[in-house]
Amino acid sequence: MMKSVFILGVIILLVLLFAAPGITLGLIGLIGIIIFGVRFAYFRSKNHAKKAKKSAIIAGIAAIFFTVGLILTPSTETATKQSEIKNETKSEQVTKKKTKQTTDKSEIRQLTLILDEATESDSNGTVLIKGKTEPHATVYPSSKISTKKQADADGFFELTYELSDDSETELSIVSELDTQTTSKKIVLKPSAAFIAVKQAEKEEQRLAEELKLAEEQRKSEIAQLTADAEVAVKNAENNQNREHYDKAIAAVSSIPDGNEELSNRLAAVETAIHAQEEQESLAAAEEAQQAAVVQEQQQVAAEQTVLVTPTGKKYHTHVCGSGDYTPTTLQEAINRGLTECAKCY
Ligand SMILES: [Zn+2]
Repeated sequence: MMKSVFILGVIILLVLLFAAPGITLGLIGLIGIIIFGVRFAYFRSKNHAKKAKKSAIIAGIAAIFFTVGLILTPSTETATKQSEIKNETKSEQVTKKKTKQTTDKSEIRQLTLILDEATESDSNGTVLIKGKTEPHATVYPSSKISTKKQADADGFFELTYELSDDSETELSIVSELDTQTTSKKIVLKPSAAFIAVKQAEKEEQRLAEELKLAEEQRKSEIAQLTADAEVAVKNAENNQNREHYDKAIAAVSSIPDGNEELSNRLAAVETAIHAQEEQESLAAAEEAQQAAVVQEQQQVAAEQTVLVTPTGKKYHTHVCGSGDYTPTTLQEAINRGLTECAKCY
């Protein structure tokens, strides 16, 4: 029983020694000093010189144990300090780590790129984009990679961009340096002057289109009128009279710019009609003259008195041979189918 308690004690001691060697050694030393110190004092008072000496030696060993224990055991203050230092180091490391991460991130994520606010175009629609980025970085609008510019030694740059119409345009400006890239959006505004210019252009375009449309309409109208006039002229050529000619003239006159070819053809028709009319009027005059002659003759005949016989085929100016001569008008004689007597006339 005692033996197993002793072994258990030794084991606990070893465990304690292992877990907290300083405190354990210190405690053992302290207990040894107290026990053997008391024993030394007791044996000395009883004049047991040998036993007192032995106790003093063991107490000395215990004192060494205690000292070693003290050295090994960190004092409370020291421990706190040490842990503080430890914590500080840890937090410092974390901070350092964080800083490193931030640095890494910024290296990957972004180059400096600052764009000026004023981004209104001039009257021609040209926008001057000013900004600052990394020195010697390449800068360009994402939509126009062809217009690359290089920032100067201080990182300043200027880009120009032409607005295509009079509406606001959002643009990404890209800055490139080595393998790093960053971009920033910017809104480009058309100036009032540019808007006015563009609107004038639009109005001009609209008018031009209107004019073009009107011109096309006019052309098609002319084509139709010309076709109609062509038919009328042909008709007049085939039927050369005033009625068809007048219709054709009206048709040709209705063509806005006229038509020389059709006019010439109509002139020929007119000449022909005129000649025809001349001829007709000439014939009519002749006929009238003839009628006048006939009338005159008839008048003369009506007024002239001749002699006729009941059975004779001739009329006479005087009694000519035998028969029963009676006077009558020349007209009457002619009406009866008598002809003039060869002897009397
Ligand atoms: Zn006669």
